[in-house]
Amino acid sequence: MLETPSKFVAQTAFVQPSDATLITLSFRGTELLVHENGQTVRSFATTAPIDSHIVIGRDEQCAYAAQRLAAEFQAPEGSRFANLRSLFGILPDEQVAIAGRALQLLEWDRTHQFCGACATPTVRETHERARRCPACGLSAYPRISPAMMCLVTKGAQILLARNVNFPAGRFSALAGFLEAGESVEDAVHREVHEEVGIQVSDLRYVASQSWPFPHSLMIAFTAEYAGGDLLPNGHEIAEAHWFDKHNLPQLPPKVSIARSLIEATLARL
Ligand SMILES: [Zn+2]
Repeated sequence: MLETPSKFVAQTAFVQPSDATLITLSFRGTELLVHENGQTVRSFATTAPIDSHIVIGRDEQCAYAAQRLAAEFQAPEGSRFANLRSLFGILPDEQVAIAGRALQLLEWDRTHQFCGACATPTVRETHERARRCPACGLSAYPRISPAMMCLVTKGAQILLARNVNFPAGRFSALAGFLEAGESVEDAVHREVHEEVGIQVSDLRYVASQSWPFPHSLMIAFTAEYAGGDLLPNGHEIAEAHWFDKHNLPQLPPKVSIARSLIEATLARL
């Protein structure tokens, strides 16, 4: 699973003096600058305007900042730009998690340069992660979009579905975004019914995971099948079937909470 390392501490400004090695995570759009082999971040300091830099935090050895590079910026010799998802399993998971956090913050910063109420240019707060409007006082905080994930069980079987956007043959647990006014549990009942037409009961919270594409928080549950005919809705879910541990389709990648949820549930059934 994608998890920020336990020793990482988020910061909005570096506390000086710092004995840590500064690593500047550089993004061009949503792509991260890494060494050619993709196994390490290529820390890179530019003379770009300071407003395109953002402090992320630190762990025991390193302090992390992030910066946006211009679209025309070319990767220096021996390095390349890579989509963060393509670095799963190549770049160490802890660095993927910190880079994911950096990407979310850079994107929030980029898209909140002006006040949403009065269009005045906003300024960064230094004591908290916010951009504030100096004219009307409106503050904008990084947006997190909660989404539920649910693995439905029936005896020793689990329900896996193929989303219409998945690669051919890939199945996963059901998932969907919360709507305004819903609890996470409401969203589980609604989404499961909308996507495959069944009812569930006995919801159990399992885990949550930040998913920075672009700013989701996945909240994972298991639930028991409680009735109804399995009927994929066709526009989101192409097919859905009951599987047991001896008869599994292609599953999501190991870094995802979906994979952990499926493996942990199969282990106890
Ligand atoms: Zn304003």
